[in-house]
Amino acid sequence: MKISIIGSTGSIGRQAIEVIQNMPGFFEVVSLTGGDNIEELKKQIELVKPKNVCVKSEQNAIKLQKEFPKINFLFGDKGLIDIASDRTNERILVSVSGKTGLKPTLAAIENGIDVALANKETLVMAGDIVMRRAREKNVKILPVDSEHGAIHQCLSNRNEVEKLIITASGGPFRTKSIDDIKNATVEETLHHPRWNMGKKITIDSATLMNKGLEVIEAHHLFDMPYEKIQVVVHPQSIVHSAVEYADGSVIAQLGFPSMHIPIQYTLTYPNRFEGIETRSFDFVKAGRLDFEEPDFEKFPCLKLAFAAGREGGTLPVVMNAANEEAVYMFLENKISLWDIYEITNKIMNDHKNISNPSLEEILEQDKIAREITKNQLLGR
Ligand code: MG
Repeated sequence: MKISIIGSTGSIGRQAIEVIQNMPGFFEVVSLTGGDNIEELKKQIELVKPKNVCVKSEQNAIKLQKEFPKINFLFGDKGLIDIASDRTNERILVSVSGKTGLKPTLAAIENGIDVALANKETLVMAGDIVMRRAREKNVKILPVDSEHGAIHQCLSNRNEVEKLIITASGGPFRTKSIDDIKNATVEETLHHPRWNMGKKITIDSATLMNKGLEVIEAHHLFDMPYEKIQVVVHPQSIVHSAVEYADGSVIAQLGFPSMHIPIQYTLTYPNRFEGIETRSFDFVKAGRLDFEEPDFEKFPCLKLAFAAGREGGTLPVVMNAANEEAVYMFLENKISLWDIYEITNKIMNDHKNISNPSLEEILEQDKIAREITKNQLLGR
């Protein structure tokens, strides 16, 4: 399988490299792309020997070119698009975070390359456009996220689906009071009980915005109306998600929490192999599995996401942009955790929605919403 990784130095990208190394001879890595983590990228170059590598700056590309003369170095947004468009690839993994994922994903689709998609923003921002082009080009979008990977595995007969059940661990504040959440420090918020992930997604998991983004993604990926998508809090993170059928039967996908498993599934699909952390699942050892209703009062970001998704148009774009910028402001201790909700809510309320937006309109609204969000600080 000839593959490329867009965003190989992040959390998902690094685990994908581990999956690849664990299956010698199965993968040929065509290209890697990384941002500023040059040391990690150098290690990966030695490990998987890609043909092309894209970095952020021209300066770094020139430096690395001298060090690795046999590899073709590219840089910037154009480099990313070139790598994603390269038809040598049979599959690409898009594991960058933020809106950077959108254009390479579309480029791969236009070139008929299947996409293992670990980037949420792509579908939250432009799900209608992305899924339509994927259908037209007969390109598979294989979701890496554990929940969507689970649903993908549970969907055997699409016509008789009653609802999708997306599980949520509940994050670090599941059992905390609303006041505790309002006064949460960055450190407490970054302490996720189940999953070890990047900072942005860890904060989103604490506010449940992450679950909200996943609901919007599920709507696009599986063409499912929002009334038929249910979020259930499941603190053990053993049931990764489920599908209920017309006859009341529920098919769920279970396993111990590890991102290596869903990453490998999307890279080797439709085949399955033993993986890095494969251990036989033991129902007895798993013991009990708890399920509860999400608390929309304590986690109002989840409410925002359902509202944005139902409304459609550019509202999810604006919500995503405002939330992302607000998360960065929280990480810099400029605002409180609760302000992420307050700011995102305000910007959504002020937004004049555009239905059926073009890609240009999406990118423009994204930019405007980010600027407005950063300006919120000035009034404080
Ligand atoms: Mg997830």
